Amino acid sequence: MELPRGLRRQKQFMKECKHCGKHFIGMKIAKYCEEHRHRKFGPVKVETTPDRYNTVFQSSNPKTYHDTFSCACCGKGFEVVVIHSVKVYPKYCEEHRTLHRRKMYELSQGVKSGQEV
Ligand SMILES: [Zn+2]
Ligand SMILES: [Zn+2]
Repeated sequence: MELPRGLRRQKQFMKECKHCGKHFIGMKIAKYCEEHRHRKFGPVKVETTPDRYNTVFQSSNPKTYHDTFSCACCGKGFEVVVIHSVKVYPKYCEEHRTLHRRKMYELSQGVKSGQEV
């Protein structure tokens, strides 16, 4: 891993890992050795809970049909094939099915200061 640019060289101290007690050289604020630092400050988990992206809908129609759901992000309608045996459907239109796109959308809405819905 590369250190971010512009990170100033900081004073190093002899530290003791709070997890395993191993001595290591680190910054004053460091609490864990190289090995345990990564566990503690590893990459932030990305939201992957499936139900955040889906909506549960139980069709009362035994036949398969097309329905229009509205996007939980922008409210725009999008077509869904409703199948009686299927209860989980996408919550967002194709445009906003990824977290990144929804974040972008929220940002663009923020800029407009909520004038448009
Ligand atoms: Zn350790
Ligand atoms: Zn949308």
